[in-house]
Amino acid sequence: MNKTEAKNALVTGGTRGIGHAIASRLSASGAKVHITGRRKNPDISSEFIYHQVDFTDESSVKRFLEYIAGSKIEILVNNAGINIIDDFCDIKIPDFDAIQKVNLSTPFQICQAVIPNMKYNNWGRIINIASIWGCLGKRGRAAYSASKFGIDGMTASLAAEVAKYGILVNSVSPGFIYTDLTREILGEHGMKEVTEQIPMGRLGQPHEIAELVSWLVSMENSYISGQNIIIDGGFTRV
Ligand code: NDP
Repeated sequence: MNKTEAKNALVTGGTRGIGHAIASRLSASGAKVHITGRRKNPDISSEFIYHQVDFTDESSVKRFLEYIAGSKIEILVNNAGINIIDDFCDIKIPDFDAIQKVNLSTPFQICQAVIPNMKYNNWGRIINIASIWGCLGKRGRAAYSASKFGIDGMTASLAAEVAKYGILVNSVSPGFIYTDLTREILGEHGMKEVTEQIPMGRLGQPHEIAELVSWLVSMENSYISGQNIIIDGGFTRV
């Protein structure tokens, strides 16, 4: 168990999949964990402080940012994300904009809201969940890749700016992880196909991402910042 005791953490998109695994892992190591989701009454444990917020809805985001600015968050995990696959010329602008809002511009605003308290404490940890499609391109992923390359660029610049305040900022880029998002986007056939291209011969599990994030946000990480750490069973190295 690493040391995140008594820290206030925020994990966006913590109701399901990777975000839920991260929130549970941080809570198990003693953090007080705020999570977000879109639904009014999601089926989640009472150990979490739940906020209903849709990142595509400006007034909902504004209310949430006001709350978060006053809540002394010390660990932020920008995890909520969406993906819509379409050939480049068929991507609809409202879909492109929604992807950028959820995956990039709201995470940017959440960073702005939590950093003053982290600076005041001279300590903070920020993880931005990017993707292998934030390092590589693939047909149909232009809108998603724009957001994920973008969030990693934001990570690198922010890390350079806030290191002197004890705030470490990193991207974590998962490969193919077994979640609702992957099941929706790839389907059973697509998941079988990609499995054959992954050196480890299987999809990743959300708890495997959670272990990495949990260490990166802990006291034990004292010198890793500005990095994009890929966790993909070896996929991007072949
Ligand atoms: P899921 O689809 O399982 O969960 C998505 C989470 O984001 C849910 O908590 C959901 O809330 C929330 N969310 C969805 N839309 C919005 C919105 N408009 N506003 C606010 N919150 C929203 O996703 P994963 O766990 O698979 O993915 C998590 C992150 O990891 C994403 O950033 C994704 O891009 C990234 N990633 C995932 C990979 C994978 O293989 N799964 C691979 C690489 C990166 P609710 O439950 O209320 O709908």
